[in-house]
Amino acid sequence: MSFKSFKLLRLVVVVILGILVTWAAANGNPWIPIPAVIAATIILLLFRRGVKEVIVDERTFSIAYKASRVAFVIFGVGAVTIGTTLLALGKAGQPDLKPIGFTLSYSICALVLIYSIAYSYYNRKFGGYEVSGFWYNPNIHPYTEHQNRLASMKSLAQEINLPLIVEEGYDFIKYFRRVAGNETERCRHCFNLRLSKTAEIARQNSFNAFTTTLLISPHQKHDIIRETGNEIAGEYELEFLYADLRKRYSDSRHMTKPMDLYRQQYCGCVYSEWERYTGKEIE
Ligand code: SF4
Repeated sequence: MSFKSFKLLRLVVVVILGILVTWAAANGNPWIPIPAVIAATIILLLFRRGVKEVIVDERTFSIAYKASRVAFVIFGVGAVTIGTTLLALGKAGQPDLKPIGFTLSYSICALVLIYSIAYSYYNRKFGGYEVSGFWYNPNIHPYTEHQNRLASMKSLAQEINLPLIVEEGYDFIKYFRRVAGNETERCRHCFNLRLSKTAEIARQNSFNAFTTTLLISPHQKHDIIRETGNEIAGEYELEFLYADLRKRYSDSRHMTKPMDLYRQQYCGCVYSEWERYTGKEIE
């Protein structure tokens, strides 16, 4: 199913659900809304699984984050203002307003509590990393391509204030010695070469974890990257941070487009360049 069809289906389900709930409320029937909400949720989850396109990406998260913050502040300020006003009126001789005032005041306390718990959970799960970039790519050929991509990396690091460590030199002979005779398995050797150097530098500079930007590319072999990263992490007693960032690929392109950075046309090595322009695969 395409994302467009799914959006249409979602709209239809929401409209039907709205009609059912309104009808149930108007007729004082409490037994319809809950099964209707459950049925609608199940239908949407089932159809959502059939959508092959990306449904959410970085922009969706960013918009949702901003919308949640605004909703949180508006609800918080509104509930506190109305709640305390109703409590004051309740004390001043209108006792019917007191329970509403209490309900609003307690609901904002519950909201703040849930927010604090959720914040602390996500902070432990995703926060707490100070990130530095590291450049080591003897797999990029020819040399001029390597220099173009390095210049682009430096300019991005400057733009986003990312500390960047650059491995001087161009180890392309080391790369070819590793892959010669193993061309079909070259990516495994290439990942190993680059991630080993990354772990070595991480260790020397007292970092406790490392990862790779390869994880955002839909063209890379994630299972091999993950396996290689974990093996190297074990050798260097570091943590390899794995995350499947492929669905954020289009977002990364969207974010970097205005920066006018150099865009690569192939993965890096001469083999990948040949595959890219001939449409063939090395066997
Ligand atoms: S295709 Fe990419 S990952 Fe594979 S060996 Fe070439 S440069 Fe390395």
